Amino acid sequence: MFLMEKIHLTALSPNELAEFVQNIGEPKYRAKQIFKGLHERRLRLFDEMTDLPKNFREKLNETATATTLKVESRYVSVDGTRRFLMKTHDDLPVETVFIPTESRDTICFSSQSGCPLKCDFCLTAKLGLLRNLTAGEIVEQIIIVLNDVYGVGSETPHGTNLVGMGAGEPFLNFENLIKALEIMSEEEGLFIVPNRVTISTAGIVPKIYEFAKLEKRPHLAISLSAPNNELRDKLMPINKRWNIEELFAAAAEFQKSLRRGERFTFEYVLLGGVNDSDEDALDLAKLLNKYDLTRVKINLIAHNSAEPLEYHPPEARQIQRFKDILESKGVSAYLRTPRGRDIYAACGQLAAKSEPNLVQITAK
Ligand code: SF4
Repeated sequence: MFLMEKIHLTALSPNELAEFVQNIGEPKYRAKQIFKGLHERRLRLFDEMTDLPKNFREKLNETATATTLKVESRYVSVDGTRRFLMKTHDDLPVETVFIPTESRDTICFSSQSGCPLKCDFCLTAKLGLLRNLTAGEIVEQIIIVLNDVYGVGSETPHGTNLVGMGAGEPFLNFENLIKALEIMSEEEGLFIVPNRVTISTAGIVPKIYEFAKLEKRPHLAISLSAPNNELRDKLMPINKRWNIEELFAAAAEFQKSLRRGERFTFEYVLLGGVNDSDEDALDLAKLLNKYDLTRVKINLIAHNSAEPLEYHPPEARQIQRFKDILESKGVSAYLRTPRGRDIYAACGQLAAKSEPNLVQITAK
């Protein structure tokens, strides 16, 4: 495997950057300039940091790098969603999706290349785990997308939301994920605070407890998709490791960490004829009741058909019925509008798919 010898500065916290510049014999204040250049101005080359002396930039070019990801292709949906297919320095796929709405923009990033979990309704699962992404590779995804949408050097728009729901299981790459989020929350950088971030887990139970204790904790979403162990074992095999009882006990504990007005989410992918019956909706409501989960909302996501998966979305009437049943039991349920289906950017569709017949905009 090709090994990257240069140090990736986008992966360093302000303190680590200060240490790095001192180690190469430069004054500490240079670290601040570099951090701002990388994260606030979102520059991708040291040579663009013209506030640094030329010989220092040369020194940086010899020992370090600002960029490791390359955009291979970029697709734009009729609904404005953009899907970026990137490659790491060792040629592994990374996918990131930009989802604009009238009120705010959301960037859905990946935490792993591929995914080791084998959710039966998800295309990413077919890739298996290729490797964990580094903190720098997570941060770079956001920088690349923001530059594409708003241009290099523009101010990061306030209100940009991040969701860790792309490829991979974020809680299996916990350390790098948390480090990336800390770097992105820096005021002199991207300044995307934890309150604007949601991390979605398929149910890595011990990490839910750990996550609950974080001082600067983002929001949590748990991918559920079945109201009983028998079905969940089949749809999300991680359930065989931590079953519904263990997952709900962790969710109940997490609920205690919620701030005022905050809720957490269960994501429920609706698969026609599989987990969308009236009984399933009633069982789900019962389960929430049993664990006293009152500060939770259910996001219902109709499955996005994607070959070779054999699942299909339920009839619109049944989706509405499922929602109505939950609501009749006092559960907050929302239908999520799928975005970017036509460019394989929707939930469960990320599989490093490069399609010649999609509208492909040349990589920048
Ligand atoms: S749904 Fe998420 S956790 Fe499950 S296989 Fe797909 S990417 Fe992995």
